[in-house]
Amino acid sequence: MNNLILTKKILDWYDNNKRILPWRKKCSQKKREYFTLVSEFMLQQTQVATVIPYFNNFIKNIPNLVSLAKINEKKLLKYWEGLGYYSRAKNLKKTAKIVISQYKKKLPITLDELKKLPGIGEYTARAILAIAFNKPYLPMDGNVERVVKRLFNLKSKTEISKENLIKKKNFLGTSDRAGDYAQAIMELGALICKPKKPLCKKCPLTKNCKSYKKQDFEIAVKSNKKIDKFYAVKIFTKGNKILLIKNTKFNFLKNLKIFPMEEISKPKSLKKSLNFKMSNMNMNINIKVMKRTSSIANSSWIEQAKFSSYTLPTFTKKIFSSLDKYL
Ligand code: SF4
Repeated sequence: MNNLILTKKILDWYDNNKRILPWRKKCSQKKREYFTLVSEFMLQQTQVATVIPYFNNFIKNIPNLVSLAKINEKKLLKYWEGLGYYSRAKNLKKTAKIVISQYKKKLPITLDELKKLPGIGEYTARAILAIAFNKPYLPMDGNVERVVKRLFNLKSKTEISKENLIKKKNFLGTSDRAGDYAQAIMELGALICKPKKPLCKKCPLTKNCKSYKKQDFEIAVKSNKKIDKFYAVKIFTKGNKILLIKNTKFNFLKNLKIFPMEEISKPKSLKKSLNFKMSNMNMNINIKVMKRTSSIANSSWIEQAKFSSYTLPTFTKKIFSSLDKYL
């Protein structure tokens, strides 16, 4: 396989098939850097289709690094509400402040410097360098990984090890259109080389693809099972108010309000449990509603009618919307 031919095939496909996404539109270098930074933070853990309206609203209200560095946390979290993983929003703001104070309002252009910024790991740093600065980096997200695994039909534990995937990914080469090339491979994975039913007939790589030759599209994965966790949630009511406490349990929801809850052992029956799939666990929740007049530490009474105006974790909102059954 000649990687120059592969590169051309992938880029030609991208030029004709790429999605129109708000962070891809033509703009100044300054905006490109800001759009890339915000979109890459939002895309960590979240699908493109979900991110689009959040990105548009965020950019409309926080149009540049300076406004991001200055915005108060409550407003910032409001624009992030529903995307989850709120530490991303807080880190984004911290990064904006550092870029303004230490890098003259311009994102640094080395992998090491970028990785020192809050919320930026290996993948995001590579994506920023490729997309915002057209540097020859190829970040490995789930889509790229799937294309690489299928292209080379990688199956065994050694073949799908991180080191081997990086080695194989490097075989895809790079281009003087590095930003487009990185996005092209991600896009190919997202739109064509889909997890369940790859659309090989529309793929530019059928002649090069070992999985296509074998008609074997099963993706080998490292076992990474989500664990089941069980919680008892207490809903305290006082008239039309409901009690929330400051979260100290879940690191990724720092300082947000949740209902009082305790982890419990697996109940005999899960029939009455609400289930929420988080990225690292299946959360099973048993709800008890009871009247209460006194407060508890770090808590506040919230009017039920105003519940939706608070920035709250998605699972807390879901619990609230299921309460009709219990109240
Ligand atoms: S030919 Fe099919 S399996 Fe191979 S990379 Fe393309 S879409 Fe994926």
